Amino acid sequence: MTEKYEKMWEELGLDLAAHDSLLKVLGKFYGDIYLSQQKRLRGMEYLDFVLTEIHGLRIKELVDAKKNGQKVIGTFCVFVPEELIWAANGIAVGLCAGAEAALEEAEKVLPRNTCALIKSFFGFKMARLCPFIESCDFVVGETTCDGKKKAYEIFDQFKPTYIMEIPQRKEKIDRDLWKSEVIRFKEKIEEVTGQTINSDNLKKAVKMINDRRRTLQRLDSYRIAIPAPISGRDVLLINQISFYDDPTRFTQKINQLCDEIEEKVAKKEGVVPDGTARLMLSGCPMAVPNWKLPYIVESSGAVIVVEESCIGQRNTRDLVSEEGETVDGMIDNIVDRYMKIDCACFTPNPERLEHIVSTAKKYDVDGVIHYALQFCHPYTIEAYKVEKALEKEDIPLLKIETDYSMEDVGQLKTRVEAFVEMFRK
Ligand code: SF4
Ligand code: SF4
Repeated sequence: MTEKYEKMWEELGLDLAAHDSLLKVLGKFYGDIYLSQQKRLRGMEYLDFVLTEIHGLRIKELVDAKKNGQKVIGTFCVFVPEELIWAANGIAVGLCAGAEAALEEAEKVLPRNTCALIKSFFGFKMARLCPFIESCDFVVGETTCDGKKKAYEIFDQFKPTYIMEIPQRKEKIDRDLWKSEVIRFKEKIEEVTGQTINSDNLKKAVKMINDRRRTLQRLDSYRIAIPAPISGRDVLLINQISFYDDPTRFTQKINQLCDEIEEKVAKKEGVVPDGTARLMLSGCPMAVPNWKLPYIVESSGAVIVVEESCIGQRNTRDLVSEEGETVDGMIDNIVDRYMKIDCACFTPNPERLEHIVSTAKKYDVDGVIHYALQFCHPYTIEAYKVEKALEKEDIPLLKIETDYSMEDVGQLKTRVEAFVEMFRK
């Protein structure tokens, strides 16, 4: 792939030598974690292809779209209402921040005790490693946690960054604030793209993104089955790719994969032996290529059957109502749907605890692993309440705090294995 796309990467301003090394590491990592799996589904070939071409073909599509006048807009949080971007004939891409990159460079600007996700997007930009960031006309930041909102102020010096104010509570005053922010974002998108968002294009965009969410809901519905018909690693990858690939193509391909899974479930065929411990992951999102913990879990005799995360059900659980006919009515529907997100940045945040407990029961899990990035105050602190809520229901919990380095893999594996041992049947 390297030679084929070298000119394009050079034109985007990437550091070619460093980028080449990144691709090599990523390829090896992917082979070890993904391609080595037994009984993998045929439909995963699409994901393998997208991942292999993630810096190639998909970037070429973005570059070609830009030549045709479309705008590419990057996001870092599932709170950004991407429907508005698509309605204005823009392209939304969820930017990954799932690997350590140029850590030293990032730490020249950010304190060491900043979460790995924030350091990662800084590092990728400063080392000129990410063709998605370089393809974006601008990126959208948000005032979710303090680390992100202060980091975006500086990030704007490297890449134009538009900030959306996200409410921190769920009272009427917060909804009003959020609605005004969504309208301000709509105006910004219209200005940048030169396209008016009207009821026709917004309706289509709402349906397209809902269809993608519906497909991911369909995929998750099969994971209730015992034995598990797909690995948690594969589902994580599917959720990660949903932020990059063309939404219509993605929906079509994942629906085909779901057909294959449906047949397996009917025949009671699984990807793991009977009696394998069923676990739920809950907490911070895992962006590409952050596959560390799922790999540790699934190579320790367990299978992940559901994720309470923004790269998981926090992003796919709720649809935007398709009832509205006017732009204002549709904006209200968007506002209401996004206000349901139960990110730990909210206070209080009882919905998240309810979701964790009800999801754990629905998927019949043996235990929950709470995953938080080190220095992420919202999730590390909320873990206390998660623990109490699960204790009440007698659902075992393992709390993990980690980052993107590989230094703690041995230690994590020992803890995960001891947790899984509790459920050996
Ligand atoms: S965890 Fe919160 S801040 Fe992070 S992507 Fe999700 S909604 Fe955004
Ligand atoms: S992981 Fe936590 S600290 Fe890091 S960006 Fe997300 S909410 Fe903020």
